[in-house]
Amino acid sequence: MNPTRSTPDRLAGGTRWAAPLVLLGLACGGGEGNQTPVTPGTPRVSPKELRGLEVSLARNDLRVGQVAGPALAYGRYDDGTTGIVEGAWTSSDPSVVEVGEDGTLTGVAVGRVTVSASFEEFGDSLELEVLEPNPRHERDQPDDRAGAQVHVVYAVPSDAEDGNLDRYGDIERSLEAIQHWLGAETGQRLRLDTAGGRLDVTFLRLPFTAAEGEERGAALAEDLEGAIRERFGTATDKTYAVYYAGRSGDLCGSASVEGRVAVAFVHPEGCSPRAVGGDRETPSTYETVMLHELLHVFGAVPECAPDRLETSAHVGTRVEDLMYAGPEWSGHDEVVIDAGRDDYFGHGRPDCLDTAASEFWEPAARVEARVPGAKPPRPVMPSADWPVRCGLLPRRAEADASETPSP
Ligand SMILES: [Zn+2]
Repeated sequence: MNPTRSTPDRLAGGTRWAAPLVLLGLACGGGEGNQTPVTPGTPRVSPKELRGLEVSLARNDLRVGQVAGPALAYGRYDDGTTGIVEGAWTSSDPSVVEVGEDGTLTGVAVGRVTVSASFEEFGDSLELEVLEPNPRHERDQPDDRAGAQVHVVYAVPSDAEDGNLDRYGDIERSLEAIQHWLGAETGQRLRLDTAGGRLDVTFLRLPFTAAEGEERGAALAEDLEGAIRERFGTATDKTYAVYYAGRSGDLCGSASVEGRVAVAFVHPEGCSPRAVGGDRETPSTYETVMLHELLHVFGAVPECAPDRLETSAHVGTRVEDLMYAGPEWSGHDEVVIDAGRDDYFGHGRPDCLDTAASEFWEPAARVEARVPGAKPPRPVMPSADWPVRCGLLPRRAEADASETPSP
């Protein structure tokens, strides 16, 4: 895993690397005390003092066999900045969790441990629980309830590495983050297919390779739909939310609206190196992509929407809108579901499709009390991942080809 992925966003603006390492070098060259720097014109550097250490990992649970992290140790300095320091790591029980020199964590056996880092005279630790991996299911389990529901699938090309996103709980966490966001923002949440009280995630090893999938281009969503129908039959009351372990160019998602299949293309070089379900409360890239594609399946953005683009089922105004696909992105750090409640969600007009009336929603179990005026938990993702690169947009390659005159 790339260490930058685990960097908490609240600290992203801080100093990345520890100043003391640099200052140590200066001290060796310049001697002690308040001497004038040897080189004329060299600015005086006032040393920052380390005041504390904080250990950070986006999650507090791990599965047996799972490699996660690395956990990061942040130094906190007297000038208010923070920076990653190269702490020395230890595990209270290496037979439960092994911790590498760089903070990488490996779940070895079920249990609880304390993982600690120390740097200079400071130290910090975090508690971790190691659980058994989820059982893997290759069929739709008996449903807890009847009626419309969203069934979740982890689909892996025939030759692709199995990232165990189902067994390690990443997909469960991804849906939790989506539900958390939806509940706070709309008072509704997805009506998910559960079995025995737990999210029913089906593992689907596909009959085609990753390269074959990529060659299919825009037809990949239909191929996935075909593989799903073959495995599950035709369930008229289900929508499928597919986490596909492969890429389709640099796209992040697509949908077969007729087939009721929403797809997120999970690939570090295709869509984003962000983790699926990296945080169970805060949605990120893949959670945003999945909700975008599900909204397409539910009918967004309808032609009657005032802000709809002529060329695709997206809105062309309000850059912060989840279904935005206009020409600009001006760096908003907010993603909002139907910003004006007038295009595709919650407008209530009888003459225009309103996805808020979809049978695939249910009321959020409880609306969490929020401080008045406080913002709901909205996605946090790299600006490069926004807006959603959606397969339902005219493809860039095709657009370029049509604009390039033949020699
Ligand atoms: Zn789209």
